[in-house]
Amino acid sequence: DLLMLVADVRPSQAVLAVVDLNGRFLSRRVVPLPTAPEGAVMAIASGFQALRDGHPGKVFEGVGISVPGRVNPETNALMLIPNLNWMNYDVSGKLSEILGLTVEIENDANACLLSELWFGNLDGLRNVVLLAISEGLGAALLVEGRLVSGSNGLAGEFGHVTVDADGPKCGCGKQGCWEVFASSQAAQRYYAEQRGHTGKISMRELVSLALDDDEAAKAALRQQCEHIGSGLRVVNASLAPEAILFAGEITTFWSLASPIIEAECKRGLLAETGPRLISTGDGELALLRGAAAVVLHRHSGYYRASSVR
Ligand code: BGC
Ligand code: ZN
Repeated sequence: DLLMLVADVRPSQAVLAVVDLNGRFLSRRVVPLPTAPEGAVMAIASGFQALRDGHPGKVFEGVGISVPGRVNPETNALMLIPNLNWMNYDVSGKLSEILGLTVEIENDANACLLSELWFGNLDGLRNVVLLAISEGLGAALLVEGRLVSGSNGLAGEFGHVTVDADGPKCGCGKQGCWEVFASSQAAQRYYAEQRGHTGKISMRELVSLALDDDEAAKAALRQQCEHIGSGLRVVNASLAPEAILFAGEITTFWSLASPIIEAECKRGLLAETGPRLISTGDGELALLRGAAAVVLHRHSGYYRASSVR
C-alpha cells in the first residue's frame, strides 16, 4: 500500500502527516516555521524525514503541500503568499530535491475543495465556493462542475478585495482588504479592541472563551462573522453558488458562526433563494486531507467522478 506525505502550511507552523490513498491518517507532527523560506523548507523536510522513518519499508507516492497563497498551475511558482515570506523561493523544487519525491503545491482553499471532490460528498453540486478562513481568507471555485484557477492560478482571491481603502494594513501590502475584517486575525484584533489593549490572544483561546459564553469573545467573533456574511454578496453576485463550504479555523466555532453569517448573507441576496452554508466539519483535518487530494488529483488527472456531474 502506497503512502503520501502531506503538509498544511500556516504562517508560523506546518502540520505534517502521513496519509494513505483513502485519506486515512497514520501519523502526524507539528513543526514551527522560521520566517525565512530556506529555514522553513529545512524544518518541513526534516519533519517529513522523521515521519517517513516511522514507516520503514513503505513506498511513498508523493508529497502534497497546501499553502495560504496562490500557485501558478503551469510553473508551480508562488504568485501570491500574503502572510508568509516565501515569494521568489522555489519551495516545492527544493523540497523535492531533498526528499527525492515529487512535490505538489497548491492553494489551501483549492486543496480543500479537491478533497471534498475526492473524499467528500458534494451530492452532484456543480456550483460551489469553498472559503478557507483562518489567519487569511481564501476561496476555491467550482463552476458548472469545473475547478477554476484563472490566469496564474489567481482566481478566487476575494480575500484581497478592498473593503475600506483606509482600513488596517493587510499581509498583501494593501489596506482594508476583506481578509483584515473577516479572518481570524480580525477577530483577534476585535477582541483586543474590546478589552482596550493590544496583546494578542490565540484563536484557540478566543474560541474557547466564546464557547464558554465570554461576552467580549463572542462579540469579537460576531463582528468577524458579520464581515464574512456581508462580503459574501460579491461572491454570490459573481458566481451564484448552490453551496458555500467553510474550512479552516472558522469551523471550530461553526455553531456560533453559521447563524450570524447566514443572516448577514441573506440580507444581501438578489433573489429569494441563496446558497446553503456548510462546514467541512473537521478543522485541521480537512486542510491536510486537501493536501492529499492534490497528490491524487495531479497523479491521476481527474477527481472522483461520482462527486460531480
Ligand atoms: C491568501 C489565499 C489563501 C487564504 C487562506 C489569503 O491571505 O491570499 O490565497 O487561500 O489566505 O489561507
Ligand atoms: Zn490583502
